[in-house]
Amino acid sequence: MQLPVWNALYQIRDFSQFVRNVKALDKAGDEITSVPVDKTTWSVPNATTIEYDFLAQMSGPFGAELNTEHAFLNLAMLLMYPVGASKQTIRVQFEGVPKEWHIATPLITSSGSGAEYCAASYDRLVDSPVEISNFRESNFDSNGGHFRVIVHADSQNYSQNELDHMLGKIVSSEIEWMADRPFEQYIFIYHFPKGQGRGGMEHAYGAAIEASAPGVTGDLDSLAGLSAHEFFHLWNVKRIRPQSLEPIDYTKENYTRALWFSEGVTSTVAECTLFRAGIHDEKDFLSDMAAEVRELKSRPAHLTQSAESSSLEAWLEKYPAYRAPERSISYYNKGELLGAMLNLAILDASGGTKSLRELFQWMNQHYAKQGRFFPDSEGVKEAAEAVTGKKFDDFFQSYVSGLQEIPYDRFLGSAGLKLKERRVTIADAGFTVSANFSGLAIVDSVEAGSDAAAKGIRTGDIVRQINGEAVTNFAGQITSVEPESNVRLVIARGSTILELVVRTGSRNMTDYEIVNAGHVTAEQRTRRAAWMRCEAETLIH
Ligand SMILES: [Zn+2]
Repeated sequence: MQLPVWNALYQIRDFSQFVRNVKALDKAGDEITSVPVDKTTWSVPNATTIEYDFLAQMSGPFGAELNTEHAFLNLAMLLMYPVGASKQTIRVQFEGVPKEWHIATPLITSSGSGAEYCAASYDRLVDSPVEISNFRESNFDSNGGHFRVIVHADSQNYSQNELDHMLGKIVSSEIEWMADRPFEQYIFIYHFPKGQGRGGMEHAYGAAIEASAPGVTGDLDSLAGLSAHEFFHLWNVKRIRPQSLEPIDYTKENYTRALWFSEGVTSTVAECTLFRAGIHDEKDFLSDMAAEVRELKSRPAHLTQSAESSSLEAWLEKYPAYRAPERSISYYNKGELLGAMLNLAILDASGGTKSLRELFQWMNQHYAKQGRFFPDSEGVKEAAEAVTGKKFDDFFQSYVSGLQEIPYDRFLGSAGLKLKERRVTIADAGFTVSANFSGLAIVDSVEAGSDAAAKGIRTGDIVRQINGEAVTNFAGQITSVEPESNVRLVIARGSTILELVVRTGSRNMTDYEIVNAGHVTAEQRTRRAAWMRCEAETLIH
């Protein structure tokens, strides 16, 4: 029997570290010998039953947690599979569920029992998150599909109506954009903890999303982006899937160069979805895009690590040294920009008649619907060439596998836009934190001689609050603090919570805006609308 060493995150997390008291039993119920073969495999010849305890205390959409509040289960962390038999049908049953708790999962109920589910394979089983608690549930139908919205959070922190309304706009916009709805039912599972939220986890028939309660209250904006991203994953990565991720090997790293597309371009599509759905306007769209440019250019590693390499090296993201701006870029970040530029390049190459939308629909028809996986970046290039009839070698060699800086103005010009640089002085905290999409705000390095160093901030500290606000995006929050001023920080170090006042320094940096490039023509306006909506110009009125 084997337990995965990874799932959900592209990181080796060795789930067997949480396993205790493994027991093998024979048909008669007598204990027989079980022998560990390696760190995650047990030899149990002639056993019919395996019993073990699991320490489930990791919260968030990638974890498994069982406490007095709820159970949220990533089943790949918990459930072993017989070696070589991960394609067999599996039944799973939850026992001892408290009366006032309910079960929410995309798994199919077996007939007869409410707490018994089945899955066609282990892959399908562990692609199904499970929430068991006294959650709130609402339901709606859209574009012929049924949607369940499960929220386990303090009801004072959000409005279920507003959440449903927002989700209704997002799912309808994306289903129409793809002209496809490959499911009958889809389930959103939300948690809004008081501290930092840890992002979302996509599944074929649902998503588990965690966002910081203070960030959600009165402003669903960041949640809208995250939800649009996770929902689009039901196509991009779940069904339009890179060959390099299949078959899934739970015992070691599944190396892939395609995450710039599977994650980054998913974010591009999410931005366009927010625009089409009327959640964002042009100003929001352009300022989000400029923020991505700022993030990429602020990391010296954008000149030494390609988008493909950052995908391949995703497995190093758990190490603070790897997350340093001099060492790595984010495939979310560069991938989102590549998606936006590829969209413009496709519009250019097709005279405005094709966009990223046609590329995704082509990939959906040629791969997902045929039950085939696409050959990583080469498959994306092939799709761009198929929908435009033009060559895309240069784009992929220069910016996807290569290290050339993206010539933003060359792409933005057709939409009457350009990148504007501005020198600004911003607060310097005296330390850096990891900008990992899904992680906590963990201190990576502390600058010698800074006030932060004098106050004893250390590598590994988790920054929870800045000036009374929960940390949701440390880099963004610290730039809104005055240079040379006092900031109040709440820091977690192990089980200790520290409150510190730290004097910021100042440093100069380049800020970026995307602005009109002189007089904007009617053609450029149309191109810009097509770009932001991610649709052919013929659909723009
Ligand atoms: Zn994602």
